Amino acid sequence: MDSRPDAGAPAPSDFGAFPLPVVGADLSVPLVTGEQVGYVNLDYAASAPCLRSVLDAVAALLPWYSSVHRGAGFASTVTTELYAAARQEVGAFVGARAEDTVVFTRNTTDALNLLAAALPEDTTVVTFASEHHANQLPWRRGRCVVLPVPVSAEEAVMRAEDALRDVTSRHRLLAVTGASNVTGELWPVPELAAVAHRHRARLAVDAAQLAPHCAIDIAGIGADYVALSGHKLYAPFGGGVLVGRGDWLDAARPYLAGGGAVRRVTRNDVEWASGPHRHEAGTPNVVGAVSLAAACRALSAVGMSAVAAHEASLLDRLTRGLHALPAVKRLAMWGPASPRIGVVTFNVRGFHPGAVAAVLSAEHGIGVRDGSFCAHPLMMALARNRAPEASDDAAVPLAVRVSFGVGTSAADVDRFLLALADLVAQGP
Ligand code: PLP
Repeated sequence: MDSRPDAGAPAPSDFGAFPLPVVGADLSVPLVTGEQVGYVNLDYAASAPCLRSVLDAVAALLPWYSSVHRGAGFASTVTTELYAAARQEVGAFVGARAEDTVVFTRNTTDALNLLAAALPEDTTVVTFASEHHANQLPWRRGRCVVLPVPVSAEEAVMRAEDALRDVTSRHRLLAVTGASNVTGELWPVPELAAVAHRHRARLAVDAAQLAPHCAIDIAGIGADYVALSGHKLYAPFGGGVLVGRGDWLDAARPYLAGGGAVRRVTRNDVEWASGPHRHEAGTPNVVGAVSLAAACRALSAVGMSAVAAHEASLLDRLTRGLHALPAVKRLAMWGPASPRIGVVTFNVRGFHPGAVAAVLSAEHGIGVRDGSFCAHPLMMALARNRAPEASDDAAVPLAVRVSFGVGTSAADVDRFLLALADLVAQGP
C-alpha cells in the first residue's frame, strides 16, 4: 500500500489559499530541537483564528469604545448604532425571521442555558447522548429525555419521532447539534425539524460547529432556535448568540436582572423589557457582537458554499491520507460515507492521544486537540461499539481531533499527514 499522505489527492495548487486571510497565519513556534517553524493550526473546532477583516472592524470600533444606550454622547451613539447593526447582521447570517429575537450571549453554552432557563413550565426536552455537554446538561436540569447515540441519521429521526410521540407535556423541545464536534458528521436537521413540528415540538439547533462550515437558514431548515459562538466563527472571544422565536423568551424571567433589561423600576415593582434586551442586562460585550457581525459579513461576502467547497477538498485530502495509515482508526457514529464538516477524530494504535498531540506540537509545530471533547457519553458509546463489554464506570475514552477552516491550506494538511506518518513509523 502506498502510505504517502498525498497518494491520489489533488496537488496543493489545485486549491490554494482561500481568499479570507486569518490573523496568525504567519506565526512560527519553537520545536524541541530549538528550530523555529511555521505554526499549523488544526484546532479550528476549539476556536477558529480571527479573520483579518474582523480585526480591522474591532480596531475601527476601539476608538469609539463606550457603553450602549447611555445618552447622546457621540461615542455612546456610535457604539449603540454598531451594536444594533451587529444584531441585524448576525440575525441575517442565520436567516432570522421577522418574529425571531437575536440575543447576544457569551457563547453557545450561554445561549443554550438561556433557552433552558426560558422554557415554559411543563416542557419536556428530547435530546441525544451524542450531544456536546453544552447541549445536554442545561436540559437535564429540567424534564429531559436523553436518547442513545443513533447508529444512523435515519435512526436519529426515527428515535426522535418515537420519543416525541410519547411526550405528554404541554410544551416540547427537540435539541440537536447541526454537526458533531467529535466526528464532524452532519445531522439531518430539516428532517428532525419536520418530525418535531409534526409532534408540536420546537427544534433548537446547536450550531457551534455547523455555522463555521455551512450556510444556515433558520427558516429554511425549519429550526426554531439556533445557538452559536463567535470564537468558533473567526471572531475573537466573548460573543455568542441565541436566535429564535421571541414568545418564550418574552414570557420568561430575565436571564440576568439589572440595568438595560427593564422599562421602568419603582421602589416595589419592575417592568421588564421585551425583546433581546430582556435577557441582556448589564453593559453588553460590544466588541464581541461587532466582531461576530464582521465575521458573518466576511463569510457571507465570500459565500458559505465557497467555504464548504474549500473544506471538502481539504477533507478529501486528509481522509485519503489517513486511510493510507492503517494504525489510524477514525471515530464515526454513522460510518465513513456520511456527510461531514472538516472535523476528524482518531486514535493511533499503540499511542496515547495526549502523546500524539504532544509530539505533533513539540516535533512538528502542529496544533491539534486531544481529550474527550466535552462529549463523554458519545465517547463512551463510540468505545462501546468497539468493546461492547465496557461499562459506564470505565474511564472516559480519549482521542485526537484535527479540524480546519478557511485559513487551512493543502500544504498544512500534507504537513500534518507527513508528521503523523513519521510518528507511526517510529512506533510507540
Ligand atoms: N456545541 C458544540 C457542538 C461545540 O463543539 C461546542 C464547543 O466546543 C459548544 C457547543 C460549546 O461552545 P462554547 O464553549 O463556545 O460555549
